[in-house]
Amino acid sequence: MKKILNFIGGDFREPVSGNYLDNFNPSTGEVYSLIPDSDKRDVDLAVKAAQDAFPEWSALVNEERSSFLRQISEGILSSLEDLAVSETTDNGKPLWLSRSVDIPRSSSNFRFFADATTQFASESHEMRDTAINYTLRQPLGVVGCISPWNLPLYLFTWKIAPALATGNTVVAKPSEVTPMTAYLLSKIVKEIGLPPGVLNIVHGNGPGAGEAIVTHDDVKAVSFTGGTSTGQRIAKAVAPHFKKVSLELGGKNPNIIFNDCNFNEALKSTMKSSFANQGQICLCGSRVLIQTGIYEQFRDALVERAEKTRVGDPMLPETSMGALVSEDHLNKVLEHVKIAEKEGGNVLCGGDRVKPAGRCKNGFFMRPTVIEGLSPECRTNQEEIFGPVVTLIPFETEEDALQIANESNYGLAATLWTSDVSRAHRMSSRLQFGIVWVNCWLLRDLRTPFGGMKNSGLGREGGWEAMRFFTEPKNVCIKWG
Ligand code: NAD
Repeated sequence: MKKILNFIGGDFREPVSGNYLDNFNPSTGEVYSLIPDSDKRDVDLAVKAAQDAFPEWSALVNEERSSFLRQISEGILSSLEDLAVSETTDNGKPLWLSRSVDIPRSSSNFRFFADATTQFASESHEMRDTAINYTLRQPLGVVGCISPWNLPLYLFTWKIAPALATGNTVVAKPSEVTPMTAYLLSKIVKEIGLPPGVLNIVHGNGPGAGEAIVTHDDVKAVSFTGGTSTGQRIAKAVAPHFKKVSLELGGKNPNIIFNDCNFNEALKSTMKSSFANQGQICLCGSRVLIQTGIYEQFRDALVERAEKTRVGDPMLPETSMGALVSEDHLNKVLEHVKIAEKEGGNVLCGGDRVKPAGRCKNGFFMRPTVIEGLSPECRTNQEEIFGPVVTLIPFETEEDALQIANESNYGLAATLWTSDVSRAHRMSSRLQFGIVWVNCWLLRDLRTPFGGMKNSGLGREGGWEAMRFFTEPKNVCIKWG
């Protein structure tokens, strides 16, 4: 059985405890590798290695750090096929998606921040005839990066790349549910000769390895992506240490479709925003708000397409939806469908587990699910489900749509479909979400601020926001002589 190892101080290491966790292939339901069950002792070693590496790494000129990041980016591209197959095996997502999105984007993350480090600049404020202020932006030291299972390498690298670009050294933990591509990344990092200790990857679960990173005295900042309740726990743990913390959490995103939208575009995109990656993207639109003039037409077209979706072996090119990430998660999503039914929801399609024939017969598959007839305030429309389940909610006016959309504890992303440009501006300004997409979904420019408000998080990632998060601003004021 393949054994994943920790990567500490440039070496591959067994966990100190000698214990391993099972790693499942969600498409077959079988254990196919073992994950180090690391604890505080492994994290202590990783933090020490990162501390030792910090003086030299932070003293490099930007072009040198940039060159290392660029080599990692290229290393990822040269291993694209191996990484894509591993991501699909570990996560259950279609191979074409790993190939075309997850792995290329992981490479882009390093390339983007390799460039950013040569372009980043800080401010100066002149006090005429009196003094000049300038701001230094210095690395923090050792930082912790913790990521979830839905976009494993994509989100892992989205944190690590800016942390390294700004001169920090890193202790990172991928999700214990999908650790394989992080392990392969450590091999790439070793191959390109990144100095030992600059990037350390510790595997294990949240309470064991994650909490040890978050609470370590010498970890100066924590960048976390995951569930809202884990985010709350981390916020509490870091508060007494006054650590910098960035939290990218859950969502319950509205997808608002007006009568005057481009129907076909809105439909095509809604299929993606509902079911891409089995609905396991924090940005998926799980509440589909449709104006009454096109409600029935849009509903019927969406259900027709959802019913035609090919669910099954993620290795096959014709598969649109692969497996959910784990049996626990599948059961949680199925339980939500039952709750929706109890709340009076009408399940228009899906709602059940699928057992494909052949090698995937024991995998964790379910059909795309569309539900209507629920009130905007019910549990189903308020709680994050994080699976291939959407609800349809009719609305009459712009005000109604705004009220329903904003009536949520979450505030990550909203999508708007309309051909009225004034309405697009009006609504965008009043929607309480960190990201608003108009007539598109998941169109990403890596320079833009990325993150949510309310229970969807704290702080922003992306572009200069990430570079600022991973640096400490220091103002220097020099009085004229
Ligand atoms: P999770 O919170 O269970 O786990 C995320 C990571 O945190 C894992 O690596 C886990 O081991 C670790 N962890 C768990 N407990 C910890 C603790 N006490 N201390 C430190 N680390 C701990 O989330 P998940 O189930 O892996 O991911 C799904 C969630 O992530 C969804 O809620 C989704 O919306 C959210 N998400 C948000 C974004 C975003 O950008 N806002 C992106 C992707 C996923």
